[in-house]
Amino acid sequence: MKVKIRKGDTVEVISGRLEDKGKRGEVIRVLPDERRVVVQGVSLRKKHQREVQSQGRTLSPGIIEFEAPISISNVMVVCPSCDEPTRVGLLRTEDTVQRVCKHCQAQFD
Ligand SMILES: [Zn+2]
Repeated sequence: MKVKIRKGDTVEVISGRLEDKGKRGEVIRVLPDERRVVVQGVSLRKKHQREVQSQGRTLSPGIIEFEAPISISNVMVVCPSCDEPTRVGLLRTEDTVQRVCKHCQAQFD
């Protein structure tokens, strides 16, 4: 199955961790092989960072917050036209595949 979510899309979390449900954010990374996406502000994890030397730079200690990848099946793309979380349809033209909102039929990309 083809991944219909792209970097830069706005998605809404429809299932998964309760604290993330209903959250919207921009997709900052797509991991097609794992069928996961990284969404800004969603699935935040904290990591304690010790002071480390890395390639001549010193990374200061502290708590780093980062977004963990979440399953693609837990999110839906928010249509930029009708602002609803929607299933994405594909419309094939001669040389491109256009994504289409199944709510309002708007084409996006
Ligand atoms: Zn729409």
